[in-house]
Amino acid sequence: MTEKCGVVGVSLDGRDAARPLYYALYALQHRGQESAGIVTHDGFQQHSHVEMGLVGDAFGEDDLETLNGAAGIGHVRYPTAGSVDSSCAQPFSVSFKSGSLGLSHNGNLVNADEIREELAAAGHAFTSDGDTEVIAHDLARNLLEEDLVRAVKRTMGRIHGSYSLTISHDDTVLGVRDPQGNRPLCIGELEDGYILASESAAIDTLDGELVRDVRPGELVVLQDDGQGFDTYQLVEQEHTAHCFFEHVYFARPDSVIDDTLVYEARRELGRKLWEESGVETDVVMPVPDSGRAFASGYADAASETTADGEPRDVEDEGVEFAEGLMKNRYVGRTFIMPTQDERERAVRLKLNPIKSTIEGKTVTVIDDSIVRGTTSTQLVQLLKDCGAEEVHVRIGAPAIVAPCYMGIDMATREELIAADKSVDEIRDEISADSLAYLSTDAVADVLEKDRIDLCLGCVTGEYPYDIEGEETDRDVNRPDVGGAELPADD
Ligand code: SF4
Repeated sequence: MTEKCGVVGVSLDGRDAARPLYYALYALQHRGQESAGIVTHDGFQQHSHVEMGLVGDAFGEDDLETLNGAAGIGHVRYPTAGSVDSSCAQPFSVSFKSGSLGLSHNGNLVNADEIREELAAAGHAFTSDGDTEVIAHDLARNLLEEDLVRAVKRTMGRIHGSYSLTISHDDTVLGVRDPQGNRPLCIGELEDGYILASESAAIDTLDGELVRDVRPGELVVLQDDGQGFDTYQLVEQEHTAHCFFEHVYFARPDSVIDDTLVYEARRELGRKLWEESGVETDVVMPVPDSGRAFASGYADAASETTADGEPRDVEDEGVEFAEGLMKNRYVGRTFIMPTQDERERAVRLKLNPIKSTIEGKTVTVIDDSIVRGTTSTQLVQLLKDCGAEEVHVRIGAPAIVAPCYMGIDMATREELIAADKSVDEIRDEISADSLAYLSTDAVADVLEKDRIDLCLGCVTGEYPYDIEGEETDRDVNRPDVGGAELPADD
């Protein structure tokens, strides 16, 4: 699974924004490795540099020197909507009659095609097939008739889906989070300005202070002099739909999302996993690095209570926590291996077991997810080849049964092992002695949210947005924007 994008925006008091944006993008690199870009504005004109590749490869010293101006936005991208080429790399930048615009988008609209058709019929020419350009054109059109805040509000009333945006309109930087707050976005204070970023780790990198998350449906406008920000609650919605997988998988463990440190949430999910499905074994080990925080919470809980939930006797040492699998950090993601055969080999390249912690022992191995099942099958085999007597697999999230339409590249339904198999069938397929996932209730409990305030689409098959051919888990108002005629003013 790969996150689609990371976004950032800064407004500083007189100092060029390019370098802080560049460092912030480094901090967000885990959210997208396909392309990186920065757009700045110096009060007179917009400057842009967008390249395919990692942040470190996309920018040279000369590029940063040309990105003048104290305000700007940045983006790292892994494509899920639109082509895998530079036409969809971001920030998307363009100059209209209403001024210059730059847009960085994390998420995915589910009605972009309808809006594109309508705008194309009204004479707008598109240069890419991505949904970000659709937002840019819609906003530009609205800016001809409205001030900035009303124009954003009008666009928000037309787009449907998941979006955290950083936008530059001339030298004003703004951030918007969709009315259900599906993807994260937070505000930070820097020594000489303010920053908007997908994750607080980007703020930390710049020695800033996290102020708070941008609220679902909120527009935040950074003041041009870097002295503060103005906020407008443009859309109110009864329930949020935060992506629970941000906490489980995508976000950096050192980021704080919706007031929760991701590392602590993962440890707490690990504790719940022990409470729900703990099994007494000699050793607990994480799949590095994804399972580490879960395994540490699981092992902590296992040292306090038995698998039956009874307090342990003083002389009962409980379960040993061990790093039994070493990761080769120089091997790429298994998901970019095109064939099944190559993917299977990649697992052996990626993980090397420490035989002495495994041989002759019963082992619990902990990870955050099973997607296709390839890695788990190989892993169980690897541990058994090393002499493990039993291998029990525990997963710190519910089973993924359906795809994501909100900006996560997750594999199709046909590829997802849990889409049509029971837990017992998956256990048999991966040849584990036992297998258990965490319940959705446990996730909601740990994140201190009602289930209805989370997006659980990929683990329930019911989504918080109106997606063609899929079920919804709530009342959803998908805007009607299908006609060639653009609507009159609100
Ligand atoms: S479907 Fe899953 S991955 Fe996608 S936004 Fe919802 S919870 Fe997150």
